[in-house]
Amino acid sequence: EEAPPGGPRAAAVTRFPAYAGLGSTLAHPREQVLAALDELGRLPQTRLVSRSRLYRSAPLGHEAQPDFVNAVARIDTGLQPPLLLAELQAIEQRHGRERPFPDAPRTLDLDLLLYGDEVIASTSLTVPHPRMHERAFVLRPLAEICPAASVPGRGTAAQLLKACPAQDVE
Ligand code: ADP
Ligand code: MG
Repeated sequence: EEAPPGGPRAAAVTRFPAYAGLGSTLAHPREQVLAALDELGRLPQTRLVSRSRLYRSAPLGHEAQPDFVNAVARIDTGLQPPLLLAELQAIEQRHGRERPFPDAPRTLDLDLLLYGDEVIASTSLTVPHPRMHERAFVLRPLAEICPAASVPGRGTAAQLLKACPAQDVE
């Protein structure tokens, strides 16, 4: 009997569709985001299914910083949400992320936006990401790759983008 590609157990692995939001505003943001997209695809039990184009947005909050570069990636992953978050944070760390103060400029921010249709509210992880539904810099790239992506309790990416106040995202 032939083993399926990827080893004898590969066929039994269940993978969940998840969306990650990427953002960077320091140290060549475009390169940071492109490198992080590659790294997402190399996580264990994970495949990068699609990625948005790169978007430029004006920073919110702390305004004395350069523009953001943002993107959204769709991955299929066998990693459970807490482990996936830990992997996202490990990628941030490898990109030299520091947190001197809230909304400080950052080399790389990786957020777990959606994990299937799961709703998670633990101390370290909230899914859907609590602010994604009002952020054009998340909704535009998300709607580009999957307008029908459902934000549980709130609507689809396309609907939320339409309702979102105009923001400077291109
Ligand atoms: P922000 O992304 O809001 O600018 P951080 O990246 O510094 O802020 O995240 C702060 C904390 O948010 C992390 O330590 C993490 O535990 C928590 N967190 C809760 N839900 C999520 C999520 N869906 N994606 C990423 N981080 C999350
Ligand atoms: Mg974050």
